[in-house]
Amino acid sequence: MTIQSFVPPLRTLMGPGPSDVHPRVLAAMSRPTIGHLDPAFVAMMDEVKAMLQYAFQTTNALTIAVSAPGSAGMETCFVNLVEPGDKVIVCQNGVFGGRMKENVERTGGVAVMVEDAWGTPIDPDKLERALKAHADAKIVAFVHAETSTGVQSDAKTLAALASKHGCLTIVDAVTSLGGTPLKLDEWGIDAVYSGSQKCLSCTPGLSPVSINERAADKIRNRKSKVQSWFLDLNLVMGYWGSGKRAYHHTAPINPLYGLHEALVMLQEEGLENSWARHQKYHLALRAGIEAMGLGFYVAEKHRLPQLNAVTVPAGVDEAEVRARLLQDYNLEIGAGLGALAGKIWRIGLMGYGANLKNVLYCLGALEAVLADMRAPVKQGVAASSASRAIA
Ligand SMILES: *Cc1c(COP(=O)(O)O)cnc(C)c1O
Repeated sequence: MTIQSFVPPLRTLMGPGPSDVHPRVLAAMSRPTIGHLDPAFVAMMDEVKAMLQYAFQTTNALTIAVSAPGSAGMETCFVNLVEPGDKVIVCQNGVFGGRMKENVERTGGVAVMVEDAWGTPIDPDKLERALKAHADAKIVAFVHAETSTGVQSDAKTLAALASKHGCLTIVDAVTSLGGTPLKLDEWGIDAVYSGSQKCLSCTPGLSPVSINERAADKIRNRKSKVQSWFLDLNLVMGYWGSGKRAYHHTAPINPLYGLHEALVMLQEEGLENSWARHQKYHLALRAGIEAMGLGFYVAEKHRLPQLNAVTVPAGVDEAEVRARLLQDYNLEIGAGLGALAGKIWRIGLMGYGANLKNVLYCLGALEAVLADMRAPVKQGVAASSASRAIA
């Protein structure tokens, strides 16, 4: 047998990421590969940096795209900022806070956990109590947009508390960047990482990271070497910093064309408009979901517009619903993770995917599948409710 070219099915991606990639991004990625030290490529990278600064709302010189997915951006922040023995307060209200703990411990740090129930935001009072109880803590880490539960935490308040107690902040903004307000400099966030495949609608595999001077100083003055050679920002700074580019690793050229295009599109739309668009189509989806008689897992004021946790009705096999959506409608939505497995669906409205067409398609397909499975949902009202909500 001769194996032939892989032609993927044409899906609509409405899960927790990757999100639908805009055709302009895919087209940009198919342009000819050039060398990573080519002056034309270096000039493009300077533009990527400037546009990432805009997306993060920062003037941080150390703003880069790590050549690997969001998890590598997470690891970049932790391996560089946490030194053996450092005490790190990790706020956890879902899956990704647990990965932060794992990162702290693997770098030789001591994790102090501040835990909140899955489906609720991080409680600033609990963080403040932990900061008072652990005056020797050096860093506070938390997830801004918990993709595992669809909850948004108040990053501004949490970052202010950390800095009031002399701690640096590491913030996971993988799902928030581009989808919901995030203002690095104004909020005083010291280190942040994100991903290319969520609200930026680029392909997976790149992780925007931004580090301010306060955090960069801690990295420059480390007593021990960063355990990871690849992610050591002292070395990466040599490539991305202004001036002469030295070889560190071969940058993923074509994916970076894609990120460049995605950021050009974000700039064309305007960051505030992008945030507003995510909110608008979240409201449309919400109206349709509620009209069907379904509900949301998260309290209204803590919901992420770009990640909708919808409660699975009693007696419905949620996995079968997802399987049918994929098979019959080429539509991908996400399952619940960990404690929420079997209890919620996670419907993403991320980046390019946050549009009326996707909202109506998802509502229609979900309604048809649930009706066919004889689930107790109201039929024939979801689409009109969604449209009316944003008219
Ligand atoms: C998706 C995600 C990650 C991990 O990103 P990958 O690109 O899958 O490595 C980390 N944190 C949050 C909140 C995420 O949603």
